[in-house]
Order: sequence, then structure tokens, then C-alpha cells
Amino acid sequence: MKITNLGFPRIGRQRELKFALEKYWRGEIDQSQLVQVADELKKLHWDWQSQAGVELLPVGDFAYYDQVLTLSATLNAVPKRHRGVDSQGNESPIDLDTLFRVARGRAPSGQHACAAEMTKFFNTNYHYQVPELSQDQQFNIAYTQVFDEVDQAQSFGYQAKPVLLGPVTYLYLSKTIGEFDKLSLLPQLLEAYQQILTRFAEQGVSWVQLDEPILAADLSADWQEAIRHSYQVLAQHKPQSVSLLLASYYGSIAHHHTLVSALPVEGLHLDLISDKNQLALFTTTLSAEQVLSIGVINGRNVWAADVDLIAEQIQSVATDLGDRLWIAPSCSLLHSPVDLDSEQQLIPELQGQLAFAKQKLFELNDLQVLLSNADQQAKQLIIARCQSRRKAKAANADLQVIDRVAKLKASDFERDSEFSNRIFAQHQKLKLPLLPTTTIGSFPQTPAIRGLRSRWRKGEVSDQKYQSQLQLVTKDTIERQLKLGIDVLVHGEAERNDMVEYFAEYLNGVGFTQFGWVQSYGSRCVKPPLIYGDVSRPKAMTVEWATYAQSLTEKPVKGMLTGPVTILHWSFAREDISRETIANQIALAIRDEVVDLEQAGIGIIQIDEPAFREGLPIKQTEWQTYLNWAVDAFRLSAAGVEDQTQIHTHMCYSEFNDTIEAIAAMDADVITIETSRSHMVLLNAFESFAYPNDIGPGVYDIHSPNIPSVEEMVTLMSKAADKIPVKQLWVNPDCGLKTRTWDEVEPALKNLVEATKILRRQF
Ligand code: GLN
Ligand code: ZN
Repeated sequence: MKITNLGFPRIGRQRELKFALEKYWRGEIDQSQLVQVADELKKLHWDWQSQAGVELLPVGDFAYYDQVLTLSATLNAVPKRHRGVDSQGNESPIDLDTLFRVARGRAPSGQHACAAEMTKFFNTNYHYQVPELSQDQQFNIAYTQVFDEVDQAQSFGYQAKPVLLGPVTYLYLSKTIGEFDKLSLLPQLLEAYQQILTRFAEQGVSWVQLDEPILAADLSADWQEAIRHSYQVLAQHKPQSVSLLLASYYGSIAHHHTLVSALPVEGLHLDLISDKNQLALFTTTLSAEQVLSIGVINGRNVWAADVDLIAEQIQSVATDLGDRLWIAPSCSLLHSPVDLDSEQQLIPELQGQLAFAKQKLFELNDLQVLLSNADQQAKQLIIARCQSRRKAKAANADLQVIDRVAKLKASDFERDSEFSNRIFAQHQKLKLPLLPTTTIGSFPQTPAIRGLRSRWRKGEVSDQKYQSQLQLVTKDTIERQLKLGIDVLVHGEAERNDMVEYFAEYLNGVGFTQFGWVQSYGSRCVKPPLIYGDVSRPKAMTVEWATYAQSLTEKPVKGMLTGPVTILHWSFAREDISRETIANQIALAIRDEVVDLEQAGIGIIQIDEPAFREGLPIKQTEWQTYLNWAVDAFRLSAAGVEDQTQIHTHMCYSEFNDTIEAIAAMDADVITIETSRSHMVLLNAFESFAYPNDIGPGVYDIHSPNIPSVEEMVTLMSKAADKIPVKQLWVNPDCGLKTRTWDEVEPALKNLVEATKILRRQF
């Protein structure tokens, strides 16, 4: 059997690419220096993969910004506004700066232009640049990075396996400029893919991997036909010397078994982490020449694999298929941190439990050993390691937490009374005006605050000093809100670096890495916490901040928490128990905090769930299962309080058309959402569905430095009032204000309060 890999992270174990990119954008290094860093990273990553036993090295997985964008450039599908013209008035050739102009709207050379849209890649936290295609789009090879990289890999003596997003997924993910059927572009696009394959053949490439992750989705008949047709055409016209590996991942493709098994491709990759039953299903229909690549190591998580158990499961297929079986990670390792060897400060509970991108390839190597005729001693060593890891993990179990979750009953997920009773009690207690004003939680994180925190983390500032400085910031934040005349205040979240990390640091069962960075987009990386054990809250996390802020004013101060679903989605979670159970464990920890806040006299508590929608599975048929447990986890976190305590939630988006019933089922007393950018169009969901509770549609787009005028905000709220009864409405910004400056925030909120006064008179 062969070891194969679908793609390797390019950011570098110390985020070398990030830092080089940012230096280049700031003009501190030139393009050749940036390219040199990139070349070194590519070489290092190929070396690592080769050392682990990967024979065909993925090439084309490297990108300076985003691999979908690189493909658009290769295909000559770059928006005109980013192209620029040369001195003769001809369109300039595409180069690196063109890519940066598409992604960022600007680059060291060329004109500024509005950046292309960016959106999440399937169900991952990676964001790709959405291709923009017009009806007269012509595709041809216009950018040669991937071919140059094949040459590079070959020059080091490596066998290159180019990796490209397949034509159907590429089209599926693109957006059209103007109204037309995207699929009308398919014939053109296939011709360009043929040109690309021909070029690879000329370079001596034997395998090309085409990724079609849309196979994991439910596809309408025309998209299924597009898959069938595309691979027929490619098979007919591609050079004989090139074999195609069709790769699927991020979900099962069992529902497309008939379609996929009939495709004339030389190899097929299945993500067995998503669904191991695919193995039996597809081996029955595999042709005698076809290669089967099986993704048996999770490519998007950080835990070491039980290779001994995997070996048992694939033993018979390995015997049957021999060298037609390839073993691989489930998907590209892009979603995994780079190298565990960099970690020097892991807590004991995490030691021996992790595998990052580099280590995952060595796990495949171990698997190969277990399935080979290697001597028993080598095998025993691997098996013993797996066994002791499982033993250590089992010893971590927190029986109290497990018991608490097991004993949950229906009433734990229910507030005491229904909303109509609760809101009555809340009005009596809070005495808020019509159209109460509030903010989403954070206020500007000034350089002074960030500097203070970084000095504190380095031990240069004492805990006491850090605390007292932050209290001053909090006091200032309260005073400014009082002066502005906002009704429901917040403490401002100055003590939080990140809304998940802050809580994760308090929770038992959650750990951290030093270098576990994963690319989110471009040069942006995130370092998610690791949920390794049973989660609980040893002590209060926010009560001191909330009560301090509340002590400064008679007005209500809203307690501010991150919800269980968001903490789960933005972490690397353990895989030995269900996500539902983990969500309930986190929910109980948050619930304890909610109850403590209530007991400390905080009458309004917000539980943020900005990642709620992200968790939706790729297949719509699986949505309801997810929504059920996600809604329940939120309810569990919130339901411990009395009727008169008001629970808020916040989501930074408002595409609610397809999930509005679940959002309502969360039963938050108040929900604040993003709506200003879309001019309240997104409130359409609320037209056909009478949302029962209170709602604050954002009227201030906090992603822009612009200060909205009083009139704009009056107009927006009037539009909202057309769709939702005024007595249910709140007035607030779209999201937290931490990325803005006080110079922007103060006038914007002044206008917001002014607009509210006008609206109150009007209504
Ligand atoms: N309370 C958080 C804040 O204001 C919410 C952030 C978010 O929705 N992403 O910063
Ligand atoms: Zn938000």
C-alpha cells in the first residue's frame, strides 16, 4: 500500500509565511524575499512528507493567499478591476500582486480596487476567495505558479502529484456577475482543465488529484449531471499518461455512490473519518484497475490516531487491494496545526495525545508498518503506544461531570415560565423604555489595553496591577456609556483577548498549545483551544467584572458570556464522546456562571452564539439533528435563572430564513443580530415567521469606520418596525466594538441614542 497526502499546511510551523506576507504588504521586504520564504517552506514541507513515506507529493496546495484564488488566476478568472493595464493599454499579466489585489483590494503595485468576497470553505473555518464569473468568462491558463511548483518539486527529485479543486466544485463555489446559469460555463471550464492536464503530462506528472468536496453535499440533478459529464469529458480528452484521483472529503458521499462509482477515474479518495461505512460500499464497485485512497487519519483535528484499531479495520481491504490501496489523511492537512515538535509547554494531560500535520503522516507510516510483514517488535511498539495513550486518556475522566450530564432532565432545558410571563416580570424589574438601547459587549481594545495584557502575560506587570488598570478602563467605559445615555450597559470586555480563549482558560478539561496555529484566511491564523477532557468550571469567570461595573451605576449592566455551541465550534474537540455531550458539558459550566451572575445581582445576561450557524452540516438532511442539540445546549446554559432575569443572545449574521424556528426555540428573551449592512433585507425571515421574543436588529455596521447618521439609523429601524412589532425591538450595533476606536464609537453611539429618541416620539 502507498501513503498519500491530500495537502499540507503552508503557513509554516512558526507562521513564517504569515510574517513574510505582512512584511511584504507593508513594503518591508521585496517580492523576491517573499518568494524565497515560500520556496523554503515548500521544500521543507516536501522533505517532511517524503521522510514520512509519502511517495507522490501534493503540489498546488501551497498558496500565497488562498488555493481557490490561485486556481482562479491559473484559469484567468480574475475580476477586471484587479487586473490593471500596461503602458500599451493591454491587460497586465497576472502576478502575485494581482492575487493580493483580489484578496485585499490592494497590493504594493497596481491600483486599489474593492476586494473580492471571502467566505467559509464548506464546514471548515478556512475562508476562500469567491471566484467572480461573468457570462462571457473565458478560461485559459494565465498564471503558472502550479506548473512552476511541479518543476520545483521535481528538481528536488520528488514525484509531484498536482492538487486542484475540481471543475464542478470550482463552479459551485463561484458567484455569477449578472443573472445566468453557472453551469453554462462548464464546457469552457473543462477545456481549460484539459489544457492544465496536458501541461502536467508534458511535465511528466503521472497522477493529478481533483478535489470535489461538493460531493459531500446534497446535489440537485443538474449538478450531479455536471459531475458525471465533467469526468466523462476529462477522461476522454486528457493525456493517457495522466491518471486522475477524484478526492472527496468533509462528509460522506455514500448518497452519491451510484454516480461516483460509475465515473471513469483512475482513483477515488474517500473520507472515512466522516463515514467509515463508505469503505465497504465503494470497494464492492471499485473496478479492477482503480486505486482506492482511504482517509483514515483525521486531517482536521489534533488528536493522535488509534492506528492499531484502524489497522484492524482495514486489514482485509489492504490484503484484497494490495498496492491499489492508498492510505491518507481524511482531507487536506490545511486545517491542522503544523508541527507538534514545536510544543514545549504541554500539560501532562496532552502529552502523547496529539498529532499535528507532520505527525499525522508518520501515523500513516505506523499504519503501514502494522499492515506489513515488518517484525513483531516494531509492531508491538506502535500498539503499546496506542494502548498507553488510551489508558492515560481514560484516567482523565471526570466522573462528576459525566454523571451530571447523564442525569439531565427535560426541565433543565426549560425556563420556569414562557416568554410572555417572563417579559412581564422583566419589564417590572428593569423598567426599560420603549426601544431600549444597548451594545453587543466589547468596547475599543486600545493599544494601551493590548500592551498592558502582553506585558502582564510576559510577567512584566503584576496580577494586581493588571487588574487595577483594567478596572480603570471598565470604569471609564461605564462613564462613557452613561454620558451617551445608553439604557443597558456593558462592562466592555477589556480583560478579554478573545471571546473563546478567555473562557477556555478558566475551564477544566480544556488545554492550549503554543504554536497550534491554523490558517483562517490569507495571513490570518487562529489557535483554537483543545477540549481534551470533561469540561467544568472550577470558579467564577466573569462575576467580578460584571459586579464591579454594576457597582458604578444604577442602570442595568449586562453580564457577558460566550455560549456553549460557539466555544465548541471554535475549539479542537475530543472525538471519543459526541459533540452533543461536549456541548452539554460546556453548557453546564456556562449555566453555573449564569446563575452566579444572577445571584451577584446581574439582572441581564448575554450568552453570545456567533458560531451557531457555522455548525450546520453540509447536508441539509442532517441539519435538524444538529439544530436540536445545539438549541438544547444553549437552553441548558440559560435556563437556570428566574423569570425576571433577562437572557440575551447575539449572532453576527442574520441569514435566518432556513433556521428561524431553531433560533426561536433557543428561547432567549432578546436576540441581537447583524442587519445594517444588508439594510434590514435579511429581516425577511421575520416576515413569514412571527418571531415571539425581543429582537435587536443591528443599525451600526461596526466592520466599517464610517459613522452612521441619525437619519440612516431612523430609516433602518423604521424598516425593522414594518416587520416586527415595535414593543419587541431593541436598538443596538451589529456586533462588538472592540476593533473600532473611541473616536468612531462615541459619535456613532451618540447618533444611535439620538435616533432612538426620534423613534420613540414617532411610535
Ligand atoms: N460580546 C462579543 C463582543 O462584543 C461578541 C463578539 C461576536 O459576536 N463575535 O465582542
Ligand atoms: Zn457579533
